[in-house]
Amino acid sequence: MSHDSSVEQQMLATIDKWVEQELKPIAREHDQADEYPTDLVEQMKELGLFGATISEEFGGLGLSASTYARIVSRICEVWMAPSGIFNSHLIMASCVERAGTQAQKEHFLPKFATGELRGGIGLTEPDAGSDLQGIRLVAKKEGDNYVLNGTKTWISNGIKGNCLAVLTKTDPDASPRHKGMSLFICEKGEGFSVGKKLKKLGYRSIDSAELIFDDFRVSKGNLVGGEEGKGFQQVAGGLELGRINIAARGAGMAKGATNMALHYAMDRKTFGKPIAEHQAIQLKLAEMSTRAAAAELLVHQAADKFDRQERCDLEAGQAKFFASEAAVQNSLDAMRVFGGYSYSPEYEIERFYRDAPLLCIGEGTNEIQRTIIAKQMVARAS
Ligand SMILES: Cc1cc2nc3c(=O)[nH]c(=O)nc-3n(C[C@H](O)[C@H](O)[C@H](O)COP(=O)(O)OP(=O)(O)OC[C@H]3O[C@@H](n4cnc5c(N)ncnc54)[C@H](O)[C@@H]3O)c2cc1C
Repeated sequence: MSHDSSVEQQMLATIDKWVEQELKPIAREHDQADEYPTDLVEQMKELGLFGATISEEFGGLGLSASTYARIVSRICEVWMAPSGIFNSHLIMASCVERAGTQAQKEHFLPKFATGELRGGIGLTEPDAGSDLQGIRLVAKKEGDNYVLNGTKTWISNGIKGNCLAVLTKTDPDASPRHKGMSLFICEKGEGFSVGKKLKKLGYRSIDSAELIFDDFRVSKGNLVGGEEGKGFQQVAGGLELGRINIAARGAGMAKGATNMALHYAMDRKTFGKPIAEHQAIQLKLAEMSTRAAAAELLVHQAADKFDRQERCDLEAGQAKFFASEAAVQNSLDAMRVFGGYSYSPEYEIERFYRDAPLLCIGEGTNEIQRTIIAKQMVARAS
């Protein structure tokens, strides 16, 4: 990981400009039309975002988790959905970088970094989300290949992406169940198709899809780490960075909603004065800004620990839980500040209100998250 702060500061300044000039002007229209932001993807390639956390030796930017989190937050202050185009892609990349063979790293990481190959992670199935060990997609070994059969659902970048990390069962009868799970890097081809694009409450413009594997053949060289039975740990090993990423989205959204509410409250007048001067609104603004600031601090605490290579499972969990709930609460509070106009797409707060709840679901629901936090508390105290 690079820790050259001037390079990181320069990157953040570039991102700020890009968000202002490219993201902000198109957010509302694209979201309303559920239209894919193709131009943004090309710009993301140029900015190096598809390789943000990939090591420099493999062609990435090698950014620290702290800088990466700041980039994600700044994007989500304005529009959360585009962050999903490179976030789950980078989780796939981190699985390869952490657990892949040298040959897999050399083959895939440079292509991931440029965006030539891009996609995300295929874990969830129609009958298994939180209980990932209950997946049913089977990978059966045949000579030098594995043959995949089954269905994934809710997969981000499933349509526009051309490559996904797919969690499978290589031994459906294994006990404990995780010992029969293996992860494959699958480039699209015959037998790997998109079932349907899913309609969504929020997080629009970004494709979420059902994926169908029907006798899809993948080379045994694409089995991450080259050994069966490690897939569950490989996926779980990426969760700290994944949670920091969701937390950073939440902190950004919480701040963005606060900023929108503040400016509206300073502008809108009732009973002869700006509503920002009514105490009921002041209480909301104060609570929102405090929540947003606390979320940001929790994200940085977790990211700093991650960068120092210290254990940060508890901190990443706390940041994910708090920041995602802060995004939901601040979006709702901002709706109150906007009054009737909160219901109009003319103002963008209604998008925040629709986008934020996803953060409480992805990378481990907040129910599961709290049980994990409590278990870690007990483990650390034992
Ligand atoms: C827009 C969107 C994008 C997504 N992108 C991806 C993606 O790119 N890749 C991917 O693999 N998946 C993706 N997902 C799926 C997401 O990760 C799952 O929806 C999530 O893991 C929850 O699984 P589930 O929906 O099956 O809910 P379930 O696991 O069925 O849970 C239902 C409810 O029960 C609770 N619950 C379940 N078990 C417990 C327990 N033991 N204790 C307490 N409470 C429990 C949950 O918290 C939840 O409230 C996406 C989902 C959405 C909506």
